[in-house]
Amino acid sequence: MSLDRKAQLAGNLAAVNTRIDQACVAAGRDRAGVRLIVVTKTFPASDLQLLATLGVRDFGENRDQEAKAKWAACAQLPVSWHLVGQLQRNKVNSVLKWADVVQTVDRLELAVALDSAAERLGRRLCVLVQVALDIPVQSARGGCGPAGALALAEKVLELSHLDLCGVMGVAPVQGEPAAAFNRLAEVSRAIQGLAPWADQISAGMSGDLEAAIVNGATQVRIGGAVLGNRPALP
Ligand SMILES: *Cc1c(COP(=O)(O)O)cnc(C)c1O
Repeated sequence: MSLDRKAQLAGNLAAVNTRIDQACVAAGRDRAGVRLIVVTKTFPASDLQLLATLGVRDFGENRDQEAKAKWAACAQLPVSWHLVGQLQRNKVNSVLKWADVVQTVDRLELAVALDSAAERLGRRLCVLVQVALDIPVQSARGGCGPAGALALAEKVLELSHLDLCGVMGVAPVQGEPAAAFNRLAEVSRAIQGLAPWADQISAGMSGDLEAAIVNGATQVRIGGAVLGNRPALP
């Protein structure tokens, strides 16, 4: 069972890496400039163990409770943990126990709460500002509009326990992802005008990683193409 699963994950991973390689060639970009984050939400810790032996070094999770349990079961793995789902302020302390990166900072009160929690724990936290890419902005899906993102980034720079690392975006459900990723790249350029080191662009999922890479993504967040269809959420 687990050998079969390992072979299946290895095959899927190889296919995704080939897509990333080819997208980098097509975009004239260095492959080393694109990091693969495997989004493991809904899949068991045993899959994360297998993925780590296959060389995956970054996991994305979207729910605190589920992520924390898997992190505890995988504590020995040499991997980084990314929160890619929306975060409630009352979960901040819990998330700081397992997350290395919070990719979904979209409002000042959340940034302030993360900064305070990091300070209490005597650690720093890498954060990405989530930019809503729908037009008009649909903040129900998380993220702040492009202008708000720049203003938020400016505030995050004043918080002494947060490291502003860049931006994150999810393409709209409808329409052409390339145009949305291009808007995200514009926001990234504006933020890098304030903070040149904040150059990470997290964009692209199983269905649109090529469009993201052409538009400058430095991280792609891939779930289904590596792990298979997700079980339905309870
Ligand atoms: C689930 C999820 C992904 C991965 O999506 P796939 O289509 O399965 O590759 C990427 N980003 C976020 C924010 C997600 O919630």
